[in-house]
Parts: sequence; C-alpha cells; structure tokens
Amino acid sequence: MEFSQFNVNTLMEITSRPDLVFVRGEGSWLEDQSGKRYLDFVQGWAVNSLGHSAPEMVRALQEQAGKLMNPSPAFYNVPSLELAQRLTDASVFDRVFFANSGAEANEGAIKLARKWGRVNRNGAYKIITMNHGFHGRTLATMSASGKPGWDTMFAPQVEGFPKAEINDLDSVRALIDAQTVAIMLEPVQGEAGVIPATREFMQGLRKLADEHGILFIVDEVQTGMGRTGTMFAYQQFDVTPDIMTLGKGIGGGVPLAALLARESVSVFSPGEQGGTYNGNPLCTAVGVAVFDALAKPGFLESVQARGRQLSEGLLALSAKHGMGGERGLGLLRALVLDRDDGPAIVDAARKQSPQGLLLNAPRGNLLRFMPALNVSEGEISSMLEQLDALIVAVRK
Ligand SMILES: *Cc1c(COP(=O)(O)O)cnc(C)c1O
Repeated sequence: MEFSQFNVNTLMEITSRPDLVFVRGEGSWLEDQSGKRYLDFVQGWAVNSLGHSAPEMVRALQEQAGKLMNPSPAFYNVPSLELAQRLTDASVFDRVFFANSGAEANEGAIKLARKWGRVNRNGAYKIITMNHGFHGRTLATMSASGKPGWDTMFAPQVEGFPKAEINDLDSVRALIDAQTVAIMLEPVQGEAGVIPATREFMQGLRKLADEHGILFIVDEVQTGMGRTGTMFAYQQFDVTPDIMTLGKGIGGGVPLAALLARESVSVFSPGEQGGTYNGNPLCTAVGVAVFDALAKPGFLESVQARGRQLSEGLLALSAKHGMGGERGLGLLRALVLDRDDGPAIVDAARKQSPQGLLLNAPRGNLLRFMPALNVSEGEISSMLEQLDALIVAVRK
C-alpha cells in the first residue's frame, strides 16, 4: 500500500505525524503500509506492557467478546471483579473504580479528594501538584499538570492546584493551608523527562500529609503495572499512599484505567461517580490477562534485569559521546543528551532502512525509552547498537 492512497485530512491534526500508516504489530515490532518493520521502543507511550498484540491479550479479547461485552456499569460483571480483586490484593488499597483513560482516573482522584475534604476537612479542596508534572488533558487534569503554557491554553483553568517543585519538601510545606486537601504527584515524572522523586521526598510527603491530616495521591498512570520493576512504583519508596491512579500499562493497549483508594478514603456516595464504559468486561478481561502475565514468577525480576541492561548501555553511550548520563527506574529511562538533537535522532532512527527504530524525545536534549516489559536482551542490545551509530551519523 502507498501512503498517498490514504486521505489523512479527515482527521483533526492534533499532532504532527510522519507519513506512515501502521498496519500490524507483533511483540517489539511494528509494520507500516509499505511492509517496512520498526523496532518499537515507544510502545504506545509505555502502554503496551506485553508488546503489540500479545497472544494472551488476543485470547482474552476473543473469549470475552464472544461472552459479554457490556452489561452496563449498573450491574456487576466477572472480569471487573476479578481485576479489582487482583489489584487490591497486590497493593495497599481496598477499593477500585475503573475508568477508560489516565486523565479520567485522575479526574476521579481529584473528585474523591474533594469529596473527602468536604466530609473530613471543612470543605478543603486544594490539591498541591508539581511543576512540570503531567496528569492528563481534561480541563481539571490540565490544571493539575505543571506543563509550561498549559495554564493559559484553555483559560480559565480549574482552580485549586497550587504548584510545588519535585524533590523540594519546603516548597510543598509552604503551600499547605486550611484549604489544602491533598498532595498529588507522579513517583517518576514521565512527560517532564523521566525525573524520579527521591526516597526522602516521597517519605517526607507522607509525613507532611500525616502531620496536616491531608491525603497523599500517587499518579502511577505511567509508572504502575511493572514499568519501574515492581508492580507499583510507590513500593520502591516504602510509602503508603491514600489514593493511586493507574492507566497506560494496565490495559496493555486497550483503553483501561483505574482509581484505587484505601477504605477510609473511599467516600463516594452512589451517583457521584460513574461513566458509561467503566469496568466493562471486554477491557477488564484484558486487564486480568495483563496482570496475570506481570504476576508470573520471575516476570518483574526480568523487567529489573532488562532495566539494568538498558541503564548500563545508555551510560556507556553517554560516556562514549560525552553526554549527560541517564536516569529512570526499571524500563522507564532517559538518556540526557549534551545538545538539542533528540528530535533529529528520533527522525533518523525511524527513517533507517531496511528496518526502522522508534524512539521518543520528550525534550530537545532527551531521549526516552519505554519498551515492552517483555522486551528481549537481544532487542535492547540491537537498539543500543543502532543508537550508537545514529548518534555518530546525526552529529557528523
Ligand atoms: C499518560 C499519563 C496520563 C494521562 O493518561 P491518558 O490515558 O492519556 O488520559 C496521566 N498521568 C500520567 C502520569 C501519564 O503519564
């Protein structure tokens, strides 16, 4: 197939896309309309935990599609109960609300915190979030995000999201007042360029929240579901959050997200939260299949091993080319470039022939790596070799 046979102008232009139409995916590989294959280290932005069209997901989808797709959220269904049981067993949380996107799960977290504030803290509603944080693209989650420029883009914002600095406890403390109901952050800021919170900061936030009687919310839409080498990233900081949101990897590629809370915080009354598709059996059945794959003995250990391999490889490239090092947790990592040629490297990687390589540059001087969690040792070695050559070629 030729790219020119497609009329791409029927779609709203919400991002600038290359002249490619992907038609097939398998594991760490994608194939475009011309049959060219690409090694994929983006994976739908850290979404496809098990790679493209993982057999266990296809099986779950096919079986569930033939059984029951949507009885409505007004009734119980088996896969949503099974997935909620798995998530609560694996975490410190007691209750789950399923959503369709990370933004929607975060909207739910914001609503839940505000409701809790109305019941327990004299109507306190402000949620302290972080500069450069990312929580989604609805109006409230854009307001909660700290992306430069987002405060004016669709003004007026939703009120009540004062911004602190990640890893600066004093900046959080200074913002707490009688109207504050919660602190919310990503354990590793993803869109900001893979910036991990420190252990001292996360533990300090928990302590601050306890001292002031406010809630501690972690947005694990990107870091959750094994991405950082443990099922949830908060587990690596030895903290117990009150609310957590999940998205991206939880569905492995199908639209699924979740809001989790501890019992004392689960204060929604009937009618206050909902959504047509929430907890539908088609997507939660896939969620069960993804969860069971991540929970298999040895799976998370292999994520950690691949994370170490990627980290060491990136460090070696950084040293060789005089770059600024690498950072991240597990298989969410970034290489810090010494100049703004990230987008040029991404372009050159995609255009390689006969096989392309898909990378992401969230900033000019940064490359981000989000491979499938079951990426092989050989695929990581191959990516690192290609990247080495690409850096030389782009800089020549
Ligand atoms: C991607 C992301 C979101 C938004 O998820 P959507 O499914 O795109 O709405 C929210 N928070 C974090 C940390 C994310 O990485």
